[in-house]
Amino acid sequence: MLRQFFAYYAPYRGLFLLDFGCAVLAGLLELGFPIAVKFYVDELLPGGDWGWIIAAAVGLLIVYLLNTGLMAVVTYWGHMLGVNIETEMRRRSFDHLQKLSFRFYDENKTGHLVGRVTKDLEEIGEIAHHGPEDLFIAIMTFIGAFLLMMWVNVDLALLTAAVVPPIMWVATHYGKRMAGNWDALYGRVGDFNVRIEENVGGMRVVQAFANEDHERRLFARDNDRYRSTKLAAYKIMAASMSLNYMSIRLIQLVVLIAGAYLVLNEQLSYGGFVGFLLLVGVFVRPIEKINAVIELYPKGIAGFRRYLDLLSTEPDIADRPGARPAPRLAGNIRFREVSFSYGSRPVLDRVSFEIGAGETVAIVGPSGAGKTTLCSLLPRFYDVDGGAITVDGIDIRDMTLASLRGQIGIVQQDMFLFGGTIRENIAYGRLGATEPEIIEAARRARLMDLIESLPQGLDTVVGERGVKLSGGQKQRIAIARMFLKDPAILILDEATSALDTETEREIQKALAELSVGRTTLVIAHRLATIRGADRILVVDRGGIAEQGAHDELLGAGGLYRRLHEAQFGS
Ligand code: ADP
Ligand code: MG
Repeated sequence: MLRQFFAYYAPYRGLFLLDFGCAVLAGLLELGFPIAVKFYVDELLPGGDWGWIIAAAVGLLIVYLLNTGLMAVVTYWGHMLGVNIETEMRRRSFDHLQKLSFRFYDENKTGHLVGRVTKDLEEIGEIAHHGPEDLFIAIMTFIGAFLLMMWVNVDLALLTAAVVPPIMWVATHYGKRMAGNWDALYGRVGDFNVRIEENVGGMRVVQAFANEDHERRLFARDNDRYRSTKLAAYKIMAASMSLNYMSIRLIQLVVLIAGAYLVLNEQLSYGGFVGFLLLVGVFVRPIEKINAVIELYPKGIAGFRRYLDLLSTEPDIADRPGARPAPRLAGNIRFREVSFSYGSRPVLDRVSFEIGAGETVAIVGPSGAGKTTLCSLLPRFYDVDGGAITVDGIDIRDMTLASLRGQIGIVQQDMFLFGGTIRENIAYGRLGATEPEIIEAARRARLMDLIESLPQGLDTVVGERGVKLSGGQKQRIAIARMFLKDPAILILDEATSALDTETEREIQKALAELSVGRTTLVIAHRLATIRGADRILVVDRGGIAEQGAHDELLGAGGLYRRLHEAQFGS
């Protein structure tokens, strides 16, 4: 895992070396200071020469200025390194999300996924900057300070080293618990995000049911869990911090007394004593840093592990190695012995049928029979478990996804619009469409009346998911998209089911125009639509129960007749 992490540094070698070099230099200056003080007290002060004393002050000033510069570099360029790595990881996460299939999104919650691309990576960015440099400098100053302490006085140095074992114990003992805690805390934050996402997204439903109190209770429960997990984390932090503090202060006290004894017995100079005390400070600081490490690292490592998890989630629908871009399709569709299930839930069992290029086929059947599922297999939102689907004789898995999906248009009952303008939403059908093309599509989708009645026209903002538009208006935008997209195969999945009769009739005209020259699959209840189709497929549990023309099927007296009678009377 560490190697995977460091691979992200490769493009920023220059920044890394700059940051690292400056940090090491700053560490060296820190090490040099106590020795300079020792020299100052032992050699310069007794001489009483103001020239030298002022020279020392000037020297110190130069060192301070240098250190200031180093700090600025580390803070800015070091963070630039972290931010660059964070940005790169975020880009990869987002890219990967684009590749994951419907099945993945069926199983994962939006709030969790959003957290992965935002908060998680922020913490990794912090570590990417501070991690290696902190660790290296901690080790460097720790060893360096110890060697210098040995040089000043061996006995005192060995005495001081006694502080190391208890601090190490605190680090390992609490470090593990802290890591577990950050993992738990992350889970809580994820639950939070999901809860808030669903609540805010579904606020209209919440208020329509007057269930605000219920929502408040659910949220309070999550909020409380988060609170207790966080408090547990701070308890660990408090324990480890105070134990460390106590160990460090105790050892300083011991040095103070032992050092005084050595000075009084003339085994240690005054300068050596002061310098040693300062060195103890430098020596324990990296150990104190371990505390920060205990807190920050597990957090970042947990985040990095989740990042790797996401990136290693293989998309279950992707281009096959040999896949080729599909030619311009005529739209001759064939299902051959197609079986499909959602996990352990079988929906289609060896379904076979054929639809000719340009044909319009109505798909009818009871709710939950698998009509939508049947249509989702065609653009490969899900892959068949058995059998095959071909278009113009080519297995759809031998075409690239982009070229296949580029030639299939879907209008569903509940269209998802993006939060931008009407123009942007129409142009989503074909990015880069020109203004006249967009207007032509809007005209054919019978949208011009609406657009002309709006003060902002095409630039009217539709609100999140199109909340500022009526169902019929959203549907017309969806149809305009299709005119721009110009697919060979059109799937209309209860496109007008949610609309009132008047609007439905209007939109039906646009849909009729849209389906000209395309293979069209219409999932519908409306008699006129069904009758207008060239053929009717009747879907029941597991597959196709019947197929044929309206009159034929009525005459056959099977499922179609029963559905028909239930809906329209006999
Ligand atoms: P229809 O469109 O005919 O009403 P669907 O094709 O939507 O029916 O659904 C067929 C069956 O598959 C239903 O029992 C439904 O509950 C189930 N189903 C639909 N979508 C999913 C999904 N994403 N995951 C699991 N089961 C699903
Ligand atoms: Mg359906």
